[in-house]
Amino acid sequence: MTPNLQTAPNAPLLGCIADDFTGATDLASMLVRGGMRTVQLIDVPRGAEPVAADALVVALKSRTIPAGEAVAQSLAALAWLQAQGCRQFYFKYCSTFDSTPAGNIGPVAEALMKALGTDFAIACPAFPENGRTVYRGYLFVADALLSESGMEKHPLTPMTDPNLVRVLAAQSTLPVGLLRYDAIAAGEQATREATAKLRAQGVGLAIADAVSNDDLRSLGQAFADAPLLTGGSGLAIGLPDNFRRAGLLGAGEAAAQLPAVGGRAVVLAGSSSRASQAQVAHWRASRPALRIDPLALAAGEPVVDAALAFFDQHPDETVLIYATAASGELGAIQSQLGVERAGQLVEGALAAIARELAQRGVHRFVVAGGETSGAVVQALGVSRLRIGAPIDPGVPWTIGDGPHGPIALALKSGNFGGTDFFTRALALQS
Ligand code: ADP
Repeated sequence: MTPNLQTAPNAPLLGCIADDFTGATDLASMLVRGGMRTVQLIDVPRGAEPVAADALVVALKSRTIPAGEAVAQSLAALAWLQAQGCRQFYFKYCSTFDSTPAGNIGPVAEALMKALGTDFAIACPAFPENGRTVYRGYLFVADALLSESGMEKHPLTPMTDPNLVRVLAAQSTLPVGLLRYDAIAAGEQATREATAKLRAQGVGLAIADAVSNDDLRSLGQAFADAPLLTGGSGLAIGLPDNFRRAGLLGAGEAAAQLPAVGGRAVVLAGSSSRASQAQVAHWRASRPALRIDPLALAAGEPVVDAALAFFDQHPDETVLIYATAASGELGAIQSQLGVERAGQLVEGALAAIARELAQRGVHRFVVAGGETSGAVVQALGVSRLRIGAPIDPGVPWTIGDGPHGPIALALKSGNFGGTDFFTRALALQS
């Protein structure tokens, strides 16, 4: 990697752009695991003041917005990361390659390549630890092809073609090729040679095969000099060691260490995913919990005040406030209020409860639900998160920069975490 001499000695090394919030946290967790101090930014920060970290991850919400907007937001994120002094850049998308023929993986990757002055980048969503592998350009989810994994029925990004070369070609202007498993398995040198061949053929974007963490490490090593990498969070596994080999990063034992945040905690659940249902049931079996009723919210009843009163009635215990419903119940509410309105009412109520509780001195929050987490983070005025150690795979504790001081946040997307996730999370940050 050509050293950038204008870079301040403590400037971040890796600048990442993620197309959604929980995906950003997932990538950040991977980098922390590799010993990089990592900060996740919520949207592109306005100011240019330096952020002390080895890696920065800008979390956008650009997965399903119009391609032009996704490109504009991604370029703004890139410009901010460049101003921070990052040396290498990473575009993170879903390990199931969630996209449509209109984008946004191809258009964003091409725009970032152009801005970085490079004519080649790899695209590798493989995440073998989570069952996502790519072989001969075909993406598997566990033992099924992507197109038979359930993703073919996704409401926004139905993935009906498991051949990622075709999928990416449909949304790119550059020729798309395949960096085959044979070369990657044969090691760094063979990967470099295969890449040179693809470039000579005019290929601009190449789907890279990978079925194991070793493949991902080997890819990372072969592309240590690349200005841009694109992929899921798995491809980042080898990057910390690249920086270490270049003498730019220390051992990083303390990368996951976060300051302890004391005081009362609360658990907020706005997710009705199966894992969240089990977690809520587990908590309710022995600890105080209050259910939020979307129909009462729609009727204008003082639901938020009732939740705050419930919190006040339990001064010595952590309480759970939840909207989680079983699927039949959820369907009934949604058909009565409309999916969007019901979602907004619940998100708005949980966000308002979080804001009020923060003002009452609650500085530790466990939140279940991807969209719910976004609403809570916004309500708390948090714009950046330092990422700590994982509670369960893909869900770390984080520390946010709230207006009332540091706030500890465990933000869990729907189907993540074991049944006792809430209690374990609280035990780790007390
Ligand atoms: P997940 O990560 O499980 O998808 P999200 O928070 O992203 O969870 O999404 C869940 C959505 O469902 C949110 O918009 C939330 O407000 C909404 N919601 C939660 N509980 C209910 C409920 N009981 N009735 C209707 N909508 C609900």
